[in-house]
Amino acid sequence: MALADFERYPLTFGPSPVHPLTRLTEHLGGASIWAKREDVNSGLAYGGNKTRKLEYLVPDAIASGADTLVSIGGVQSNHTRQVAAVAAKLGMKAVLVQENWVDWPDSVNDRVGNIMLSRIMGAEVRLDPAGFGIGFKSSWERALDDVRERGGRPYAIPAGASDHRLGGLGFANWASEVEQQERELGVFFDTIVVCSVTGSTHAGMIAGFAGQERARRVIGIDASAKIDETRAQVARIARSTASLIDLGRELRDDEITVLEGWAGDYYGIPVDSTLEAIRLTGSLEGVIIDPVYEGKSMAGLIDLVTSGDIPRDSTVLYAHLGGQPAINAYSALFR
Ligand SMILES: *Cc1c(COP(=O)(O)O)cnc(C)c1O
Repeated sequence: MALADFERYPLTFGPSPVHPLTRLTEHLGGASIWAKREDVNSGLAYGGNKTRKLEYLVPDAIASGADTLVSIGGVQSNHTRQVAAVAAKLGMKAVLVQENWVDWPDSVNDRVGNIMLSRIMGAEVRLDPAGFGIGFKSSWERALDDVRERGGRPYAIPAGASDHRLGGLGFANWASEVEQQERELGVFFDTIVVCSVTGSTHAGMIAGFAGQERARRVIGIDASAKIDETRAQVARIARSTASLIDLGRELRDDEITVLEGWAGDYYGIPVDSTLEAIRLTGSLEGVIIDPVYEGKSMAGLIDLVTSGDIPRDSTVLYAHLGGQPAINAYSALFR
């Protein structure tokens, strides 16, 4: 089946905006930098990259007869907030297991930002003390069982909607969208920079771009601080997505690039380069990025451009995947 044959339930406004980051480009004095804005891709609770992935999961959820979306993430998960919004939009319930992925002492961490938005949208939020991990969990199985016991029909969405047969399709479609926008704008992005944690954003892009005529670099920046797991997950999902959309060939190892060096020691804890990237992007462009994901991928982009690893004559597309609501739990960093 080709990508276009998969059913997509529209949750986004349409193609997400693409625009140059002119002052950041001037400041770095190197490659020409553009952004594609998943942070403004939807009217559903601020949108983000998970909303795009969910466009391909929703038809499957509806077909299954489900009445409750069940998912899992950290306390400040952007993903579970987007699941809550989609459930509201569909007239379904949401049960969200929110684990303690980040040891972050902010006193309002479990009250503001994403978790507050999920509560506003009527999701059942279950705080769970388990730590960071992108696999399947007993708390999660329990949530599914509880829905069944109440007579409901759960639809299971794994962390980040990644470890799901259809999880890579949203960003395979993103790759087609980029190609279309390039034609309209008369540019070619030879390098894509994207944050990677649960993996299907980057993996979907790899599978999608692999089917296009012109080759380009798709650089994933790890923000999980568990580089081996991220690499393995991205490779696995990229290959399964490529075969799902009938790419017609195996992906080569050199098409799968996840770089480490900007995650710091822990997922969810910013380091100096993260905060510098957040301040720089905010002060030069008026564009807000978060301390968990986008601040880390932007720090990677800045270093790769500054070092010349991304050459001066490159045209770079930075995938802004959303995530701003979490910034409310990090107020102490910006006093
Ligand atoms: C989930 C998320 C990511 C990482 O995407 P994955 O598909 O999990 O690798 C990056 N940025 C933001 C804002 C996110 O919410």
